[in-house]
Amino acid sequence: MPGERVRLREGTAPGRKRVAVVGGGLAGCEAAWQIVRRSGANVDLYEMRPTVATLAHTTAGLAELVCSNSLKSDDPATPTGALKRELASLGSLLMAAAQEARIPAGKALAVDRALFSATVSGALSAAPEVTILRGEATDIPEGYDAVVIATGPLTSPALAGRLGALVGAESLYFYDAIAPIVEVDSLDPAVVYRMDRYGEPGTGDYLNVALAQDEYYRFVDALLAGGTVPYHDFEEGRFFDGCMPIEEIARRGRESLAFGPLKPVGLTPADGRRPYAAIQFRRENEAGDAVNMVGFQTKLTYPEQERIFREFVPGMKEAVFLRHGSLHRNTYLNGPAALNGDLTLKAVGEVRLAGQMTGVEGYVESMAIGALAGIFTADALEGRPFTPPPPTSALGALLAYVTTPRDPYVPTNMNFSLFPPLATTGKKLKRKLRREAHIERARADVAPWLDRLAPFFRDPGEERL
Ligand SMILES: Cc1cc2nc3c(=O)[nH]c(=O)nc-3n(C[C@H](O)[C@H](O)[C@H](O)COP(=O)(O)OP(=O)(O)OC[C@H]3O[C@@H](n4cnc5c(N)ncnc54)[C@H](O)[C@@H]3O)c2cc1C
Repeated sequence: MPGERVRLREGTAPGRKRVAVVGGGLAGCEAAWQIVRRSGANVDLYEMRPTVATLAHTTAGLAELVCSNSLKSDDPATPTGALKRELASLGSLLMAAAQEARIPAGKALAVDRALFSATVSGALSAAPEVTILRGEATDIPEGYDAVVIATGPLTSPALAGRLGALVGAESLYFYDAIAPIVEVDSLDPAVVYRMDRYGEPGTGDYLNVALAQDEYYRFVDALLAGGTVPYHDFEEGRFFDGCMPIEEIARRGRESLAFGPLKPVGLTPADGRRPYAAIQFRRENEAGDAVNMVGFQTKLTYPEQERIFREFVPGMKEAVFLRHGSLHRNTYLNGPAALNGDLTLKAVGEVRLAGQMTGVEGYVESMAIGALAGIFTADALEGRPFTPPPPTSALGALLAYVTTPRDPYVPTNMNFSLFPPLATTGKKLKRKLRREAHIERARADVAPWLDRLAPFFRDPGEERL
């Protein structure tokens, strides 16, 4: 169906500031809510469905969950649990809708997706400051005091092209290729060795695992037999060089991994025995307690990744996964290259990006960046200073990820490796204590920030100033 070009409306409420939020998904709905609850502005929320379809959405509803109905763990001792609590403390519409639509799922926050979407749609439709406009925005809407673009991983091609032209095509990606991240102290130190390629064994930034020939073949066979996530029609067979899933590389020939991401040249360990293949782990965070498996983007299911890597990669028997590997169709920008710290596009003025397009991955992470974009927009409109969340909080750690340069830039979920290092006491904490300390510090540090923001939030029904 051809896209309708969005027609900008003349100011419906003279004197009020007007904001365009493009994309009625998870981030856009949360951003719109935060803007109208924290400022005197009116919001036009543009959603192209059902006029123009995406490759994954199946309804016309706002905040549609395109795949799983789980918003992951609700355990406050986990990073995603902490993120949910911080969002709820900000008066998040989507967190409230999730509680409304909650269905039993153990420690996870799972929802009835139809009720979840209907609750969000109902609240925004009932808000007199919000106008929902159905139609595709093929460009950044003009004539507004501020704009939030939250068109998600399946942004329509016309708008994606426009953003690419603004930020530079090299900063716009259409797939993400994500390698697993594991905790360093869950790797067996008797097996893993430190060494940069062609460097001195025992020194350098990379950790490595050497595989003998029989180990390598067993690993390749396990990969080939591993269960994978089915490809969507629109993803099938469309990989860039350099981001091919490891099991697909293995399918091209038994030796192809050994000549590709597992090539052992320059990685002979101190014992002098040249490995048949080698797996490299690259440092992931400042603390150095998390590493990613270099070149290991994969479509293996999460349980299969854990089973195969633990069973067939020496030194990974007890590996703790902070993030699993994946490969998706996903439109996103190189956040740190394209964005300022307050999520405004460097290339344009009061235009913010929100949601998965900034380089976060996941439902709650997208809502979180939507909430921050909404808060920062409201603060700017009301002349309040930009007040980012502390980097030690879950929201702050996520914001720092999407606005701090890193190479390569790949999307992230919320996980422990995003938190800045703990203050050293000279003593290395055990994993459980370290995790507790991160969550405790996040809770303590975010409290004054939440207190500072609280007076600017009006509950629904409260008169506007
Ligand atoms: C196929 C697929 C499956 C996923 N499964 C999961 C999962 O199971 N769990 C998980 O945590 N995460 C999942 N994700 C990742 C991600 O969390 C979700 O995509 C999430 O919905 C992103 O939120 P968002 O607000 O950024 O984008 P969306 O929720 O996709 O919202 C963007 C909205 O913008 C609209 N839009 C796009 N272009 C335009 C335009 N030009 N004009 C007007 N409107 C426009 C779209 O119709 C859409 O409603 C999945 C992603 C994909 C692509």
